[in-house]
Amino acid sequence: MPEFSLDLNEDQLQIKEWVHGFAKDVIRPVAAEWDEREETPWPVIEEAAKIGLYSWETIANFFFDPTGLTFPIVSEEMCWGDAGITLAILGTTLGVSGIVGSGTQEQIAEWVPECFGTVGDLHMAAFAVSEPDAGSDVSNLRTRAVYDEATDEWVINGTKTWITNGGIDKVPTVHVVVAAVEPELKARGHASFVVPPRTKGVSMGQKFKKMGIRASHTAEVIFDDVRVPGRCLLGGKEKLDGRLARAREGKGSKVQAAMSTFEASRPLVGAQALGVARAAYEYSLDYAKERKAFGRAIIENQAIAFKLADMRMQIDAARLLVWRAAWMASNGKEFTAGEGSMSKLYAGEVAVRVTDEAIQILGGAGYVKDHPVEQWHRDSKIYTIFEGTSEIQRLVIARAISGVRVP
Ligand SMILES: Cc1cc2nc3c(=O)[nH]c(=O)nc-3n(C[C@H](O)[C@H](O)[C@H](O)COP(=O)(O)OP(=O)(O)OC[C@H]3O[C@@H](n4cnc5c(N)ncnc54)[C@H](O)[C@@H]3O)c2cc1C
Repeated sequence: MPEFSLDLNEDQLQIKEWVHGFAKDVIRPVAAEWDEREETPWPVIEEAAKIGLYSWETIANFFFDPTGLTFPIVSEEMCWGDAGITLAILGTTLGVSGIVGSGTQEQIAEWVPECFGTVGDLHMAAFAVSEPDAGSDVSNLRTRAVYDEATDEWVINGTKTWITNGGIDKVPTVHVVVAAVEPELKARGHASFVVPPRTKGVSMGQKFKKMGIRASHTAEVIFDDVRVPGRCLLGGKEKLDGRLARAREGKGSKVQAAMSTFEASRPLVGAQALGVARAAYEYSLDYAKERKAFGRAIIENQAIAFKLADMRMQIDAARLLVWRAAWMASNGKEFTAGEGSMSKLYAGEVAVRVTDEAIQILGGAGYVKDHPVEQWHRDSKIYTIFEGTSEIQRLVIARAISGVRVP
């Protein structure tokens, strides 16, 4: 197991520089345009595919780096360029995490490449858990998957909402769907399924107009008598049957379909928030040195300089939490104090505070679209909501540190 170290190795330094270059030269220059258009930035995703950044091999390298730090570094650098465009590029990894979290080796080998496609034939993936009555309360899923023994198929019915990349049909899109197979067992009766691209019965409902991360597609997805082959049940039928039997006897398993995915991805979401915060901090630091009021640069006022000191301190603290959780997750260390939740919670709230302070430092200029800080503030807010709200992260931490099932 690699020691936890803050010194990045040669590979990581090179990857960081490569991704930063892409964020600076390709993502950031078009960030305002795609925010305004509120559409998936296909040309940018194609560019990412051309340089090998949008590819399953590259993502696998990031993901399986034994130190755990490479993917957080990549996520931070990309979101420094723009969070919405980053989610348009990395949203596919949510579906991939669902497959890697619950699938067998054969399923991973079959479906993960299918999520990305190839240069010139891009594919996408989505991870569909949330429903109108099951956001924070994931145990309340209404989407049902019923096994049809005669045909060895699963039949899925239900409506998912808020799904990143959900229902996209411009390119082949893999949906990883969490559904109830035995609703009376609540979360222990859930299972994850791969729904292959363009399967009959899958359609997009409402596409949401959002406050921030507007280059990322978020929509409802409707599953109407969707039939998938038995092999699309992630983990396989034997494992599911065993798990359900144990749950019926009251011997719950620790692993719940959606939760195992969220555990692994939380530090990465925290890293994205960090990128947004760092962008706003760097921009407002430069501005504070340039902008003159009362005959001096505004940074010469403690009120402004101290804000920047606090911003930097919080960003660095958030990065330490993110890196620790990512290192633990990669090295099989159990989160005994909700360390994954801590990293996402703290980084998300830091991003909201830092981008808010950045607007304050720019004054009127911060409130208008001539500068990117207002967009960064809008973008930052999602990090206290998706992949578990701040309240739910506090619940996870409180339960982990106390052993009390805080309601
Ligand atoms: C842009 C965007 C992208 C998304 N992408 C995806 C995706 O790809 N896949 C997916 O499955 N989902 C996705 N989501 C859904 C997201 O994960 C949910 O919105 C989130 O989990 C919160 O659920 P909710 O919106 O139903 O809020 P609710 O659960 O209704 O919560 C409302 C408020 O009540 C609080 N609350 C609820 N229960 C408790 C409690 N027990 N204690 C204290 N406070 C509580 C919450 O913290 C929140 O403040 C996305 C959402 C957005 C906005």
